[in-house]
Amino acid sequence: MHCVPSPSNLSRRSSLVALVALTAGVPAALSANDTPETKPESDAAKSASPTAAPMENDVPKIQLIDSEQDYNRLTPAERRVILMKGTERAFTGQYTDLKTKGTYLCRRCNAALYKSDSKFHSNCGWPSFDDEIEGAVKRLPDIDGIRIEIVCKNCDGHLGHVFFGERFTEKNTRHCVNSISMKFVPDGKPLPPTLVLRSKAEALGKLTPKSVD
Ligand SMILES: [Zn+2]
Repeated sequence: MHCVPSPSNLSRRSSLVALVALTAGVPAALSANDTPETKPESDAAKSASPTAAPMENDVPKIQLIDSEQDYNRLTPAERRVILMKGTERAFTGQYTDLKTKGTYLCRRCNAALYKSDSKFHSNCGWPSFDDEIEGAVKRLPDIDGIRIEIVCKNCDGHLGHVFFGERFTEKNTRHCVNSISMKFVPDGKPLPPTLVLRSKAEALGKLTPKSVD
């Protein structure tokens, strides 16, 4: 099975479809949760303690950070892939063949990116998913002019590329993701809070001016 589809698989049409499909929504973590500072809108939110553990594994909390220095510290190898858009060698990543149920987070910011239910075996050498957690992944034209790069929507960390039309699954989509860009949390274990830049949260109107102080 080809790891990189031929140009015919990546027609301009499919690129456009992907770009059109890109929504302008907020990061999943922001859309799914309000910070303690923001006004709760439901009874459940009112009764929830800011430090309470998530009710469900896929509902992470948010931790505001002041600068990009406050994201998770990365190793040189992680920086090469996540910040410099590198690619780990095929069949070397720790999650390529993992089948455990759980959630794949962004290694840099902890944003939930993929559920194990979307993972499939493609034999391409990298973890493959046919769908992302809604609003978690941003698609960009790759600098090679052919492929479509995928990055974490919250922190812009490089994840890999997305391909269409290979017929691996019904969704006909393959997110080819570097293991080193992710952190796996098995079901039943609490998810760490998603690290969100305060400036980004402000820009998205998620914080009131008062709470920013
Ligand atoms: Zn991220």
